[in-house]
Parts: sequence; C-alpha cells; structure tokens
Amino acid sequence: MLHKENNALSCEPPCQEGLTRRSFVAGAAAIGAAGALATSAAFDIVHPADAFADDNAPVEKRYSYCDMCNHVPKCGIVCHVKENRIVRVESRAKYPATPLCAKGIASLQELYDPERLLVPKLRTNAKGTASAWRDISWDEAYAVIAERLSAIKAQHGPDAVLFFCGDPKEPRGAMQRLATLFGSASYGSESSVCAAASWMCANLVFGQNSMGQDPGEATKSCLVWSLNAAWSQPNRFNGLMSAKERGTKFVVVDPRVTPMATGLADVHLQLRPGSDGALAAGFINQLIIQGLIDQEFVANWTVGFDELAAYVAQYTPQKVEEITWVPAARLIEAATLIGTNAPMTLVTSSKGGCHQTNVGNYQRAVFMIPALLGALDVAGGLSLGPGLPFDYAASTRGFQLEDVYESEGFQARRHDLAEFPVWAKFYKMMQTVHLPEYVAAGKIRAGVLLGANAMMWPNTPLYQKAINDMEFSVAIDYYERSWTHDYVDMLLPAAMCYERTAALALFGRKIFLRQPAVEPLGEAREDWRILLEIGCALGYRDECFNGDVDAALDALLATADIGVTLADLKAAPDGYDVPGQPPEERKYASGKLRKDGQPGFNTPTGKVELVSKTLADLGFEGLPVYEEPVHSPLRDNPADTAYPLVLNTGSRVPYYTHSKLRDLPWLNQFMPRPVVRLSPKDAASRGLATGDAVRVFNQQGSIEMEAEVTNMVMPGVVDIFHGWHQADVNLLTTRDFDPITGFPPFACGLCEVVKK
Ligand code: SF4
Repeated sequence: MLHKENNALSCEPPCQEGLTRRSFVAGAAAIGAAGALATSAAFDIVHPADAFADDNAPVEKRYSYCDMCNHVPKCGIVCHVKENRIVRVESRAKYPATPLCAKGIASLQELYDPERLLVPKLRTNAKGTASAWRDISWDEAYAVIAERLSAIKAQHGPDAVLFFCGDPKEPRGAMQRLATLFGSASYGSESSVCAAASWMCANLVFGQNSMGQDPGEATKSCLVWSLNAAWSQPNRFNGLMSAKERGTKFVVVDPRVTPMATGLADVHLQLRPGSDGALAAGFINQLIIQGLIDQEFVANWTVGFDELAAYVAQYTPQKVEEITWVPAARLIEAATLIGTNAPMTLVTSSKGGCHQTNVGNYQRAVFMIPALLGALDVAGGLSLGPGLPFDYAASTRGFQLEDVYESEGFQARRHDLAEFPVWAKFYKMMQTVHLPEYVAAGKIRAGVLLGANAMMWPNTPLYQKAINDMEFSVAIDYYERSWTHDYVDMLLPAAMCYERTAALALFGRKIFLRQPAVEPLGEAREDWRILLEIGCALGYRDECFNGDVDAALDALLATADIGVTLADLKAAPDGYDVPGQPPEERKYASGKLRKDGQPGFNTPTGKVELVSKTLADLGFEGLPVYEEPVHSPLRDNPADTAYPLVLNTGSRVPYYTHSKLRDLPWLNQFMPRPVVRLSPKDAASRGLATGDAVRVFNQQGSIEMEAEVTNMVMPGVVDIFHGWHQADVNLLTTRDFDPITGFPPFACGLCEVVKK
C-alpha cells in the first residue's frame, strides 16, 4: 500500500484561535518567497485534534524542536499541550535557530497524520510486492531481530549486517555504537550521498571538516557556493540578510536564479551545473593575476602554490566562459569583489557542492579560496576548531566506541575500502553507494535501517533490489513508505520529535537537552530506545544501559569529558553554557589546532595543502584538476546526443524535505504534483507550456511530470525536485561516482523533455 494516498486530515482547521487556513497559506507563501519571517514572533496554528480536547483542560507550554527537515540542530518550538495532545506550535523565542518555516508550522499534521505507523509489523507476504503485515509485539520484534541477526553473524560474520541511519540524524551515535558492539564494520548513514563530500574536501585542504561559515560582524564579503538557504534553512537566510544590511558583499554561485541570488547577490555567477571546477580554477586564477592573494599566509602556511598557480593559469575568463557559460566579465567582477573586501568567508552546501562526478577535486579548489585570501581562523573569516568534542550528530568518539573500532581492526574489513580508500580514511561510516554490489556478492545480508530511503540513491531500483535481496531487514520509521518498505521484512514505529528525547542540540558552547513534550502515540518508541533495546536483545544489555535513554545520554556526556551531566542539562531548559575560553584567532600559529601541539594545520604536511599529499599517496591527482561531468553537453559522446538538456536535481523547495511531507495538506498545495522546470527558450523550442504533461527521459529511464516554464533555470538546463515516488528522478540519475568521495552526480546528468 502506498503511504497516505487517501489522507483524511482536514485542510480546514477550526479557527477559534490561532490561524485560519487562509492566513496560514499567506504566511507560508511569504516564507517561501522571502525565505524567513522577519521576526521571531509567534506563528501559531490550531490543529484539528484540538476539537477533541476538553475546552476546560489546562494548557501547558513545553519546549520541543522541529524535525521536518534534516538539518542539525534544527529550530526550537514551543508546544501548547492539552491532555497529552499538542494543539498549537509556535517559534521558540531566544533560541539560536528560529523562527519556524512553513514546514515547522505544518508539523502537527505530520505528528497526527492518521496513517502514522503505530505498531510493530512483520511481513506476511513476499517482499517486492504490495506489503501485507501482521501486527506483533515489541518483544516478538526484538526476538525475531536477535535470532535473525545472530544467525547471519554466526554464518557470515558481523560485517554481513548493515547498520544504517538515515533521517533523522540524531540517533547516529546510538546506531554506530550498536554496530560496533555487534562487531560490524558496516555502519552507514545518509551522509554518504549528502554533505560529507564537502566536509572531506575541506579536511583535505586545511585539516578540518567544514561547509564554510556564515558571515560574522567583521565579515566584509561572502562567497556563497551553491546554497539556497531561503528555501532550505529560512532562519539562516535571516542571518545572511542581516549581514547584507551590515554591508557584507555577496557573490552567489548557483545555476538557478534563487532567492539567495535575487536577495543577496552583488554578483550572481549562474553556471552550467557540473562545471564548478572550471569556475573555481578561473576564480583562483583571477585572484592570482590581480595580486589579491595573501602572500604572507601563502608563503608560510601552504604547500603547492606554484603548482596550483601553473595549473589554473589555463583557466582564463574566456575559457571559463566557454566551459561554464558564466560571462568572462562577471567572473572578473566576482573575484575582484571578494578579493578586495577582506576578510571574506565562504558558505557552501551539499547540493551542487557535493553531487558531481568531479566533487573531490572541485570542492577542494573552492576551499582553497579562503586560504589563499588569508581568511582562515581570523575574525570574520572561517574559524577553525577545536570546539566541544561532539560530532555533527552530537555524539562522541568514546560513545561510538571508536577506540574499539581502531584496536580490533574494523577498518581493514570494510567493504568500501578498496573502491573508496579516501572516504574510508576519513570516515568510520561506509560509503553506501555500492550497496547493490555488496548484497549481490553476499558481503551484506541483513540490515537495520532507521529512516532509510531507497530513493536517496541513483538508479533507485538497484537499491530496492538490494534491500529486497537481503536475508533479513528491519526498517524503523514514522510511516510505511512503499518505495522502501515493500522490500523489508519488518517495520518498527518510531516516535516523532515531539515524543522523544533526541540527542543534544549544540550551538557553539551552548547545549540544549531535547526531551519529549508528549507521550508517543500508539506503541511508537523513541529511536534511541529502539536501538538500545535491539542491543539488549542481541546480548549487550550492560553496554546498552538496559534500554535506558537517559543513562545512555549521561554516558555520552561523560565521554565528552567537559564536566557536564544530564542533570545539569535538565536543570537548564534555556540551554547550558559550557564554560570555556573565547575563540582565539590564528590557532594554527600557536599550535592549538594540531593534536601534537605543533604550529600548523591537521594535514599530513601541517600546511594548507593546495596539492594534497593524502590524495597523491593514495594514487589520485593532488591538484584540484577539473574534469567535465561524465555525461556532459561538452563531451563528444554519441550516446548522449539525444539528451541535450543538463539535468539538475537534489536541491530543496520551501515546503518539502527530500521525499518527506508530500501528504501534508498545508504543504502539498504549493507543489501538488511533480514538475520539471525549464527555461522559456527550451520550452518554446519543444512547444511546451506550463502545466503540460511531459516525459523526461535519458538513456537510463523515463518519468512523467508537469512542465513549469520559468526564468529560474537557464537555457540548456532543467531542474527537477527529487523524492516523488510516482516520478522518481533517480530513475534518470546515473551511477558515475566521484572516485575520491564516491558521491553520485545528482547535479549534472543529461536528459530530454517531450510533450506526452
Ligand atoms: S528550517 Fe523549517 S523544517 Fe527545518 S527545523 Fe526549522 S522550522 Fe523545521
């Protein structure tokens, strides 16, 4: 059964308090267009569930957080709770991430959707067909999981079981700990096709994960490389607009005319998707030609400058224009603006930033720009660590048992080690893009899949088959999602954000504890609890704290070794400030970046590596050499001539997150059906108008959707929002993985569009 095809939830909530549907629509549309509410004023809704609450029941305000997108650490919410029902949500004032966007405002429709998964289910029919299930108890579920995983481990070894954490990200620490306890080197997450390529490239250049840093008070210019925060993180867009009002100059690199380009950009570099590496090389060349680089920093703290300068010299503005379609004068203007307004900062993203066949080289070139301009670890530039000892998902090395992983030789057993040695060097999570191959070879035979989504990979059917072909798999989710769950053996109901203790929310040195605002519906359980209880069932009762989430979080905090306990956090509902020194500048000069206390960066040479020693040692090109996408209009490939349009997919819209939220009436009205956006020129040459039913196809597949004719995309390019199970654009994206990062080319395929 497809998920929520007949959603019964009313679009017309009662309006005795809060907003009517009409005012909600107006507010949400404003958010979509402008990116964010101008203030953190309350933006309340009334949920239909309110109609069933006793009018005289007391209302209590409790803090929670939004889980509608998959960013961390997400926006704060104040819940109005009546009889264990949340009847209203509003932005949490004085919280670091606020106000709520349209998705957060609509979140109660997700929480109280009548089709939520509320009971554990065991398959009763064959996988790969419309699912039939039998309701089971949690005890039975855990017994089956323990029996099946233990049997597979006994026969094939622990690495045959994949422990995968998709969306949300908060349970990653618990999932990785479970994998290590089980003895499996096969821990994975959705970061292997999301943002981790960008982190890795920053690490290769200056020894620290980064996706850049938003402008501070001292920032004079900001290079935004492929981020549309107005739609993906509206509260962040607020901050960027404030920087603009302070006088910060912006260069925005994006193939589309987004609200970031129209609202922020002093110079918009609208490039052909996939040609970023040539643009970055041309940008660096301009900085060198114009004498704008920081000579002192480059001489003392970088290696490889002469080789880099010699390499990028070929990327003249004219050549860059031919490759990228960015006018030569525009490139010169952009480089001059950034190079003459110091300090600059850089902001990048997973979209566009990571989804190219050349990402491992091109993103390094982008991260070299702040280094060449001396903008690393200075006020207004990119500050560098060390910060608090938590990772991206607010977990720690100690809690994840990484010492065990290292001492017991997990690394050498990794399935992804041969194909992706660079990835394997940086991450203890596997690169998952070769999952079909690992399953076909019998290397992976079972999966614990939390928030997993087969549509997140290119050529989706291969991954559906891989899950289907596992001897046993269990999915943990809020809903039954046919495109993934038709291929699993068991489904477990997860509590939603309002119902669970999540990992910690970290904002610099401030920590928020996120506790449940209401009890879970039905038999749903917290994701952390489920993973700990699976661990108990597998025999790791002590190591999994007898399933006690609070005890696990207390242990996690102890491994951070910052003198903070769970009780401290519970006593600080407005956030706990971890004592510490204010950040110092130029820590690379004082030896405070490196573990050995020596001056320099955490790279093999101790310098910013303009030619990567790590890559050279592993047999890759050390320079950030540009290569055309595997499928490109500039390649002379006869097999591609029938597909003249560049296919750009993977970016966000204001009302959905990947494949989530499609069935929420208050959001679905903004984009009720799958659309392909194409330019007026390309539409005219194909006889297409907005609303026409079209077929989008290439050598790999075909999907049907509606045309939307818009100047948002440039001629020669189409843009498709992903995650529609009825028109999955990943039927068209190819498995031409970047050799350094393993990332798929969501942003640079080819296709054709014709009227149906
Ligand atoms: S940006 Fe929107 S969806 Fe994401 S956490 Fe904030 S309110 Fe929720």
